[in-house]
Amino acid sequence: MSRAPILSSAFVALSAFLLSVPPQAVATMPVASMVVSEQSDDTALFGVMRDADARLATIAWRLATANAAICRDVAPTPGLVVHAIDQYDPAVRKQLPALFGFEGPVAVEAVVAGSAAAKAGVLANDTIEAVDGKPLSVDPAGTTQANTATRDAAQRRIAAEPADRPLHLSLLRKGQRREVTIAAQPGCRSRFEMLIGPGLSASADGDIVQIGSRFFERFDDRMIAVVVAHEFSHNILHHRERLDAAGVKRGLLSEFGRNGRLFRRTETEADLLGVHLMRNAGYDPQDAVRFWREHGGEVDGGLFRSRTHPSSSARADAVAAEIAAIPAGAPIPYRPPLLDHAAEPLQ
Ligand SMILES: [Zn+2]
Repeated sequence: MSRAPILSSAFVALSAFLLSVPPQAVATMPVASMVVSEQSDDTALFGVMRDADARLATIAWRLATANAAICRDVAPTPGLVVHAIDQYDPAVRKQLPALFGFEGPVAVEAVVAGSAAAKAGVLANDTIEAVDGKPLSVDPAGTTQANTATRDAAQRRIAAEPADRPLHLSLLRKGQRREVTIAAQPGCRSRFEMLIGPGLSASADGDIVQIGSRFFERFDDRMIAVVVAHEFSHNILHHRERLDAAGVKRGLLSEFGRNGRLFRRTETEADLLGVHLMRNAGYDPQDAVRFWREHGGEVDGGLFRSRTHPSSSARADAVAAEIAAIPAGAPIPYRPPLLDHAAEPLQ
């Protein structure tokens, strides 16, 4: 799932929870207090969306690049948010070039400040024509309805390039073509996206981390980093793949017996690795303790399902103990011993 099907089916309803708040105020402004004119609804909404996407990308980029040395799987992590025009509903596509460039099907939605892409001069609203000289393709799935296949293919093309070599992009902006070479910037491999929806849900399926848009209204970036680090840890630890290999069932029965035990184990591991990812990236790992103590009861959905998890206070205690156990003078990045077992079968 992605924002696309939701945009296509309930574009109007979106404004109920992702209203036209000035982007810099998204984290703190009560949404209900904001009033905007109807004409500016779509434009402002897309501005809010871009701001939240950029916040997620910045957190993910910090976590991914700072931890590259401790990850088994790395990919180019240039600090780009890539989107495709056909991931949006056909009814709104006409207004998108004015907002996002889109002189072709795939464009840069945002660039992370300080990233290799920013240093190479890549700008938001640049259209991406080719990666390493090979033109990007359009997936026909998005012709008549919103579909992320074109975007996904572009993201995978970039991720398939060698992480230790510069990345070459062919860009188009106001009719001008330019070739940019982005310095190699490896990061732990994962895709990330904000999922528009009303719930505080977050998930990780081994390929992509999805964080609900409500987080960006409800929390500041330090709290969101806790959630992103937890979900990212599931992907780094290959939990989905290992749970599947262990024959663990999803759904109702997943909460009981061996299924429940293995789910709880992966949740605990993700909590514990998450604090190391945060610390290595310059975040305060104590924010994870605060998050579980103060907000643990609010989150839902995905791998946050209540009965497969230890209680929020137990999670806070476990995270606090993990932080306390970090050896004095531990290097940055620190590789926690739990990564030694990341390739073993779950049992
Ligand atoms: Zn989880």
